[in-house]
Amino acid sequence: MPIIVQKFGGTSVADAKKIRKAADRVIKAIKNGFSVVVVASARGKQTDQLVKDALELNPNPPEREMDQLLSTGEQQTVSLFAMALEAAGYEAISFTGGQIQMLTDNAHTKARIKSIDAKRIHKQLDQGKVVLVAGFQGVDEKGNITTLGRGGSDTSAVALAAAIKADECEIYTDVDGIYTTDPRIFKTAAKMKEISYDEMLEMASLGAGVMHSRAIEFGKKYNVKIHVRSSSEEREGTMITHEVPEMEGIIVSGATIKKDMAKISLVNVDNNPGNAAKIFACLAKSRVIINDIVQTEVSKEKANLSFTIGISDLSAAKKAIEKIKDEVNCQSVFIREDIAEISVVGVGMRSHYGVADTMFGALAKAKINIDSITTSEIRISCIVDEDQAEKALSAVCIAFELDKPAEKRGS
Ligand code: ADP
Ligand code: ASP
Ligand code: MG
Repeated sequence: MPIIVQKFGGTSVADAKKIRKAADRVIKAIKNGFSVVVVASARGKQTDQLVKDALELNPNPPEREMDQLLSTGEQQTVSLFAMALEAAGYEAISFTGGQIQMLTDNAHTKARIKSIDAKRIHKQLDQGKVVLVAGFQGVDEKGNITTLGRGGSDTSAVALAAAIKADECEIYTDVDGIYTTDPRIFKTAAKMKEISYDEMLEMASLGAGVMHSRAIEFGKKYNVKIHVRSSSEEREGTMITHEVPEMEGIIVSGATIKKDMAKISLVNVDNNPGNAAKIFACLAKSRVIINDIVQTEVSKEKANLSFTIGISDLSAAKKAIEKIKDEVNCQSVFIREDIAEISVVGVGMRSHYGVADTMFGALAKAKINIDSITTSEIRISCIVDEDQAEKALSAVCIAFELDKPAEKRGS
């Protein structure tokens, strides 16, 4: 029997009515001849509430305990979901990440999946049951519960789909597909029929919260067909697929906005071989995830080095920099927390010119100052003031006609 993994996000399982509706999706897939594995998130905003509860008791909660706590949200959903399926006449069994040996490293709150034991799932599917797996969580080698980072249930679903060799992974959410940019911020964003793994990976890493970026990495590596679609409407969503030649014809596929960032600049560091290595080794030891790095030589003796990180890593990064700054003879450290990053992404950038020109022109026209710029083969990112970020996103979307379907742009 073909296998399908169906992942339901928080809003899609927020209450009993929604869980029943999600169960109907499962039943429909069974009637269409599929064995179904469900991955579910915590109901509604429960994870946010648990974070609040923790912070009320301890402003600096131990990460192990945080994982232990946050993982409970998903556990509740899958058992309730299994009950709903049983009530509708379908056999179902729910598992925690640990129970299916979703083995991760021990980086609490941002663990990475190392392996999954598919046997237990196959055994239950073979018995005709629906298998429900709590998203967002795993266990480390010592049996400690870990979580995969906020939004991580997508990654649980796609990794699971890869491990059990599912035919497709459906991501049910509160939008009906992937748009050129977040439709809640730029209301006239256009829906995409398909997007390449590489573009979606860039967009997800650059702030498009519709998919967790690790999920796309798994999808690309293991050829998982990913279909992002609405849990409340029937229509087709967006397929995330391998790149096809026609995609190169679209210069900019999407734009993103990333808030909750910080930029750390180390001013006048000794311009010696090995200093950058020392700084980033120290940050890596503190498990700080670095987004972009810019280093410029200011003289033969001195260099400036800056990098961006997620705000949640700021206190760890500050401590790490404090430890290393004297060793590299850093004159001063400058930190900005009031920034956001606006990016445009498209595989077509590899073969077209004028993208940077259009982007910077649009920002200039909107009178938005650019703090710094970074690029890759398929994206351009600008750091701007956070309070101008949404205006900047709109200006860029209009300049690249991201309110129109790709085939209608430039006409
Ligand atoms: P879930 O709880 O189902 O995982 P998320 O809130 O994580 O849902 O992701 C869905 C949200 O992602 C949408 O409500 C939308 O605001 C946001 N989003 C950001 N960028 C995009 C985009 N490019 N296309 C569609 N949605 C996006
Ligand atoms: N419940 C977790 C979160 O809110 C994981 C997820 O929803 O994907 O981040
Ligand atoms: Mg999500």
